[in-house]
Amino acid sequence: MNEDDGGALEKLKGRFATIADLGAANSVLFWDQQTYMPKGGVAGRAEQMATLSRLAHEMLVDAETGGLLDTLGEPDAATEEGALVRRARRNYEKATRLPSRLVERLSRATALAEPAWAEARAEADWSRFGPHLERILPLEREAAEALGYGDHPYDALLDGYEPGATKVRVEAMFEELKAGVVPMIRAISERGDDAKERGAPLRGDFDEGAQERFGEEVITRFGYDWSRGRQDRVVHPFCINFGGPNDVRITTRFDEGWLSPALFGTMHEAGHALYEQGINPEYARTPLGGGTSMGVHESQSRLWENLVGRSRPFWSHFYPKLQRAFPNALDEVDPERFYRAMNVVSPSKIRVEADEVTYNLHIIVRFELEVALLEGSLTVADLPDAWNTKMEEYFGLTPQNDAEGVLQDVHWAAGLFGYFPTYAIGNVLSVQLFEEAVAARPEIPDLAGEGEFSALLEWLRENVHRHGSRYFPEELVERVTGRSLQTGPYLRYLKTKFGELYELG
Ligand code: ZN
Repeated sequence: MNEDDGGALEKLKGRFATIADLGAANSVLFWDQQTYMPKGGVAGRAEQMATLSRLAHEMLVDAETGGLLDTLGEPDAATEEGALVRRARRNYEKATRLPSRLVERLSRATALAEPAWAEARAEADWSRFGPHLERILPLEREAAEALGYGDHPYDALLDGYEPGATKVRVEAMFEELKAGVVPMIRAISERGDDAKERGAPLRGDFDEGAQERFGEEVITRFGYDWSRGRQDRVVHPFCINFGGPNDVRITTRFDEGWLSPALFGTMHEAGHALYEQGINPEYARTPLGGGTSMGVHESQSRLWENLVGRSRPFWSHFYPKLQRAFPNALDEVDPERFYRAMNVVSPSKIRVEADEVTYNLHIIVRFELEVALLEGSLTVADLPDAWNTKMEEYFGLTPQNDAEGVLQDVHWAAGLFGYFPTYAIGNVLSVQLFEEAVAARPEIPDLAGEGEFSALLEWLRENVHRHGSRYFPEELVERVTGRSLQTGPYLRYLKTKFGELYELG
C-alpha cells in the first residue's frame, strides 16, 4: 500500500462501519420480532427490516465502494488490513454480481414462501408449499449463474455460507462419513435395544424455571459473559450479535416434558455465542467482525453441546446438581443410565432430534436432493417421493406424512440452498478442533470433571475465536490443526464413544 491508500482504507472502513451498523440495527429488529414483538407489529416490522437491508445493500454495491477497493488493490492478506480488504472485496463482489431485480424477486418469493411453508407443515399439506418452491428454484439457479462458479452451480451457493467449499469436496467428505457411520448404525440396530426405553430418563416432569436456572449455571461455567449477553425464550432458538462482541444474545425453548431441547439447545447456542464474544473487539463494525463461516460457527456450537455437554467428565460434575434441581424426576436415575439416555443412537425422521451418529445422514439426504433440484434432474413435483425414497434408503424409515418428511425444515422456503452441508462440516470440525485443544492442553477433560472450562475456552479464544473472519475457513483449519478438514478424528470419536456405549466389538 502507498500513502494515499491509507486514506482509502479509512474511507473503506467508514463505509463498512455504516453497513455493519445498519446490519446490527436490523438484527435488533429481528431479535425483538422473535422475542417480544406483539402480533400487530408483523407488517410494519417487515417494512422496517426491508428498508434497512436495502440501505445496507445500496451502500455496499455503490460505485464508491468499488472505487475504494480499486485504489487499495490487493494488499497482503497475511496482514490484518489486507485480510480486511480481502473480505470487503468478497462481500462487495458477491453483492454486485447479483442483479438487484433478482435480489428483490428472491426476497419477495421467500417472504411469501415462509408463512406458506409453516402452514403446509402444520397441515402436512405439500400442495400449499410446492408452488412456492417452483418459483424459488429457478431464482436460485439464476443466482448461481450470476455469482459464477468453477465446476458446478451448487458451488456458487455453497460458497455463500462456507467460503471456498465445493460440491466435489463435500461429496468426498460425505462418502467417508457414510462408509464410517452406516456400518455402526447397522451394528447398533442389530443389538435390538429399545431406544425409547433407553432415552426415558430425559422425559418426565421438568419445571421450566429450574431448567432455565440449570442452563444458566452451565453456560456461566462455560464462560458465557452475561454482562455482554442475555437469554430469552423463542419458538426457534438462535444466537445473535449486534455488530461486535459486546452484545451477543442467545434464545432457548423449553419443554416441561422433555429435558433435551433446552438443556442441549442452551449449550449449543452458548457455543455460538462464545465464538462471537471472543472475537477481537477491534474487528467490530468491520468485515472481520463475525464468525468466518457457518461451518466453523457450527463447529463451536457442536463442540460445547456434544464434545463437552454429552461427555462423562462433564456429567460427573453436573449430574448431582441436575438431580438436586429435579429430585422427583431423577432421584432414581443413576448417572450411567442418564449418560446412556442422552447418547441414544436411533435412526429417526426428524433432523433436529437426531443423535450424533445418524445426524449427518440427514444432511446427506438434503444435499443430494438439492443438488438434483438445482441440476434439474429432479422436479419439485417429484421431491416428496424422492425424499421418502432417500429416507428409506438411508434410515429404513418412511415418513407418515410430508410434515415429518420433506416439509420439516425451513431452509428451502427461506432460499437457503447450499446451506445444509455446513452442519456436517461443523460436526466434523468440532472433533478435529477438540482433539487439537486436548493435545495442547491435556488437562481439559479432567478440568471438565470439576466443572472448569477455562483452559478449553482460552485455547478456542486464542486459536479460533479472536480471529473472527480474518482467515477463510480452510486457512483457519490448516493454521490451527496443520491439516485440512479431516473426517478421521470425527469417525474415531464416534467409534470410541458409541462402541463403548453399545458394546460393539
Ligand atoms: Zn447452530
